Amino acid sequence: MAARVIKALCIGCGVCAQMCPHGAIAVLVKTASVDSMLCDECEECVFACPNGAITI
Ligand code: SF4
Ligand code: SF4
Repeated sequence: MAARVIKALCIGCGVCAQMCPHGAIAVLVKTASVDSMLCDECEECVFACPNGAITI
């Protein structure tokens, strides 16, 4: 499973997109979204998110 954003918790800060080593996260309309084809489940974004808005 790729990383998944819990939209209700995401504030669109963009930290996860900056941290992702595979460029798998884009922040559109103040909510992050993950491209499951690019995500390798490294969990960098899970640890980086200040709101606990990403799970794997
Ligand atoms: S780091 Fe968390 S709160 Fe910030 S854009 Fe990513 S998922 Fe949303
Ligand atoms: S788990 Fe890793 S590869 Fe997948 S979106 Fe998060 S930082 Fe990017």
